[in-house]
Amino acid sequence: MKRFFAAAVCLCMLLSLLAGCASPAQQQAIPTAAPEETPQPSEAPTALFVPGTYEGTGTGFGGELKVSVEVDEASILSVTILENRETAGVADPALEKIPAAIVENQTLAIDAISGCTFASKAILDAVTAALTPVCSDMNALQEAVKQDAASSETIELSTDVVVIGAGGAGLSAATEAVEAGASVIVLEKMPAIGGNTIRAGSALNAADPERQKSIEMTDLERETIKGILAAEPRDDYMAQWQKTLSEEFSAYEAAGSTYLFDSPSLHKLQTYMGGDYVGNPEIIDVFCDNALAGVEFLSKYGALWQDGVTAAMGATWKRSHNPQLIYGSKGATFIYPLRDFLERQEDCQIFVDHKAEHLIMDNGVCTGVSGTTTDGQPFVVSALSVVIAAGGFSANVEMREQYNKHWATLNENVGTSNHPGATGDGITMALEIGANLVGMEWIQLTPWGSKAIPQAAIDNQIFVNKEGERFINEDNRRDVMAAEALKQTDSTFFLIYDGHIIVDGVSQTGNKMDERVGQDLDGEMIYKADTLEDLATQIGVPYEALQKTVDDFNACVDGSAADPLGRSLYDQKIDKAPFYASKTFPVVHHTMGGIEINPSTEVLDGAGNVIPGLYAAGETTGGVHGSNRLGGNAIADIFVFGRIAGQSAAAQALSLAPAA
Ligand code: ADP
Repeated sequence: MKRFFAAAVCLCMLLSLLAGCASPAQQQAIPTAAPEETPQPSEAPTALFVPGTYEGTGTGFGGELKVSVEVDEASILSVTILENRETAGVADPALEKIPAAIVENQTLAIDAISGCTFASKAILDAVTAALTPVCSDMNALQEAVKQDAASSETIELSTDVVVIGAGGAGLSAATEAVEAGASVIVLEKMPAIGGNTIRAGSALNAADPERQKSIEMTDLERETIKGILAAEPRDDYMAQWQKTLSEEFSAYEAAGSTYLFDSPSLHKLQTYMGGDYVGNPEIIDVFCDNALAGVEFLSKYGALWQDGVTAAMGATWKRSHNPQLIYGSKGATFIYPLRDFLERQEDCQIFVDHKAEHLIMDNGVCTGVSGTTTDGQPFVVSALSVVIAAGGFSANVEMREQYNKHWATLNENVGTSNHPGATGDGITMALEIGANLVGMEWIQLTPWGSKAIPQAAIDNQIFVNKEGERFINEDNRRDVMAAEALKQTDSTFFLIYDGHIIVDGVSQTGNKMDERVGQDLDGEMIYKADTLEDLATQIGVPYEALQKTVDDFNACVDGSAADPLGRSLYDQKIDKAPFYASKTFPVVHHTMGGIEINPSTEVLDGAGNVIPGLYAAGETTGGVHGSNRLGGNAIADIFVFGRIAGQSAAAQALSLAPAA
């Protein structure tokens, strides 16, 4: 759609703008290639742009984003992203689709791409900045695109296994199903794959003595194990786990070992007890026995891991495996190796912008999925088995309010760390055909939002309120920390950390903290200072109180004092400039409940019977985490049960498939 404007007068205005009276936005535009010939008003009666190539900048989630825009007199010829610091994986749809949409539709009235609104806006701002000084009519670039009506013809597809959702659970299910010889279709409703998994700041929990050998066990950790062994068993599973742990720990002590002890039985007990015995021990048993195999599975497809293990926030033990940042973000390492493998498989197709809406049932057997594409075209996928891996419902306010029993409110004023696609569709679809749901009222708030935190090990951070005081032991359970955080002034607090965990502006886990200092991150904010006094001034906290809090904490680190709040995880003192504060507040982070499954991931109905042909895995299910999920257990959960779902679904499908 070309635009022509008879406006010699506009061209004069335009040339005078180029001569110097630019607004702040206009000042960001830099002509990078002079027009071949300066157009003269008499020669060019119609012109929307002064032809040439121009640069502009906008501000994304990671900081400055720079574009180059090439125009002729009447149209935008190309938009190229020159520099960006957006989160790998998360921002990719915006980086690919927004520039193309601008050129294709010759407009800046492009809707932000769901799930990457910061990057979308940054690109549109940057192009606006580039063109404003050289465009005679910016209003003309604000005409919305007229959408062609979508075809109403139903797309019909068929496959052995259809997977709903392309997060960690869905892609691991697809991978195992393809490996087993099944054909697979993955449906993803968002414009990009990855779900919450690609945004994960957490790590993967698995007992891994090889990696834990480099960590010395503390007296407090020994006491923790003794406390777990002394707890009253709730059922036969727990009694058996304690018996196994007791034998393992006795052998460890008899050998005079000093490294950090761990085993699947300790992981099981911590998961069950940490979830207040609400989780299903039969599922927890399978979960912890297979967690380390999840690490090995990802490694097989190309994931690389940092040395050693840490305790993710809320993990309660140092068994969290942190991926290396081979793709630029932590979460991308959980997704891209599987994506790359699946994209090479002839028998696998991944469809983005395909929203599953209903399960298709035939005589009580699940035989496929129906839905609608983002363009509005209906589709049906017939399959021999169906895997629901559509994630949780943290971003669905209505569902949160429907099931919440434990928080004062989870209405629209309570934010979420989740991506906008986390709306519980899998649970809704399963409920519609009679599946049973478990633990739906258990909704986890993290004490902190997702945008300003370093996502580094908790050992080197403290939480202080607006009065400059700690209010909780930071290695506590997330629900306890969130409940305490909600009681602080304005339900807001600051994570305080320092140069021990932020090196050259980047956190241990690769978060580029310095690039976000001072930005409004949906109400969260990162502050940086050379001294604690300056930091206190910046965040508006009394300096004396903050200094005393840090001094008291440092005394606990060197063992000269005990923490009155009962913290047991420490690493280094907070004493190395630069000092940082992340202002944050509690948000809905994870939904522990969901579809009931058995250890093979078959979906159960209200009477405990298997619904044939239907499997589920990941956050869409309930059973593992009970009332409280340990940090780092969700990533382990999605790969353990995603893999089992793929194996089970493929076995079922191949047993039904007609012989070739
Ligand atoms: P998990 O950690 O359990 O794998 P994720 O949130 O990482 O969960 O992934 C779930 C994926 O499912 C997300 O990418 C989400 O957009 C997708 N999804 C949710 N609902 C639907 C639906 N109705 N149709 C297709 N995909 C869906």
